[in-house]
Amino acid sequence: MSPYAIREGVLTEREYPCEEHPWRTNFQRDRDRIVHCAAFRRLEYKTQVFVNHLGDNYRTRLTHSIEVAQISRTVGRALGLNEDLCETLALAHDLGHPPFGHAGEKVLQELMKDHGGFDHNEQTLRIVCYLEERYPHHPGLNLMKITLYGLQKHKVLPGGLSHSLEAQVVDYCDEIAYNNHDIDDGIASGLLKLEELDQVELWDEFFRKVKKAYPHASQLVQIRQTIRELTNFMVSSLLEKTRSNLYDYNIQTVEDVLYFGQRNLGKNLVEYPEEVAYKIKQLKHFLYEKLYYHPEIEATHEKSKQIICDIFGLLERHPHLLPQDYLKRGEKEGLYRTIADFIAGMTDRYAEKWLSRHLVR
Ligand code: MG
Repeated sequence: MSPYAIREGVLTEREYPCEEHPWRTNFQRDRDRIVHCAAFRRLEYKTQVFVNHLGDNYRTRLTHSIEVAQISRTVGRALGLNEDLCETLALAHDLGHPPFGHAGEKVLQELMKDHGGFDHNEQTLRIVCYLEERYPHHPGLNLMKITLYGLQKHKVLPGGLSHSLEAQVVDYCDEIAYNNHDIDDGIASGLLKLEELDQVELWDEFFRKVKKAYPHASQLVQIRQTIRELTNFMVSSLLEKTRSNLYDYNIQTVEDVLYFGQRNLGKNLVEYPEEVAYKIKQLKHFLYEKLYYHPEIEATHEKSKQIICDIFGLLERHPHLLPQDYLKRGEKEGLYRTIADFIAGMTDRYAEKWLSRHLVR
């Protein structure tokens, strides 16, 4: 590992001290704690973009998280970072997402507006610090401080510390994964049209190249080859600019990384070259316009919003419908936070099932 990678002893303490494991490192243990928690298994039935029952080939939050982990490990290894930490942060990054993708989060935010709000990143922290009950001596998973810091995306860390390179890498790899797999799923669903994708500079450039190189391959294979090359291009561009930043800013130690933001306000060590960042922004804009807000996706959003609103309303009027452990927590946390915890933890199918069961009564 590079001297600027996170290693044992750098913010690796836990809130509840525990004995060292005879053969697993602390970083492995945190990764294993994520993989073994219930919230991680539920990612399988949570919507990424396409609601779960629409088709078996679409990404779910689980397969998305695995793709993010795999890309993060690649980038982490190439930069000499702590791969296990990258993997943990990637596998955990979406744990706090409510059912039904972004529509689910939006409506929960709205419903919680006067009750402390809702944010999926904060929910991830609630899950790993508090809601998962698996240990006799403490609530939550008792993860290391550096892991918890890495899950506090888009936030100023205590002491004004900057994010580890591992956390910054995972943030970018999240984007690399969804930009590419959303094109893939979008085309497969028929909602994204190839002719429309032509207006995206980055896509056009790579698709043309692939068609020229493999004129006899089927269109489907050409599309997949293009997505593969695009992913590779984004990863290589990220590596190239990040490496030059590490050199230009003379980053020698992990302290140089953690105090980087205090010395270089508004600057990031992990980033794309400017012209690549611009092209990726174009692509994201296209996906928002043509896919995430496509009328067919919006239609599923409406239904999802209704389900969450109905569950919320029912629980507000009849708190005793909450499961026992939530009711108990509610005494301390208040009714609304407890309702939000319960709903955010649901999978798409559980939300539907729960509602239909309780509406009948
Ligand atoms: Mg994600």
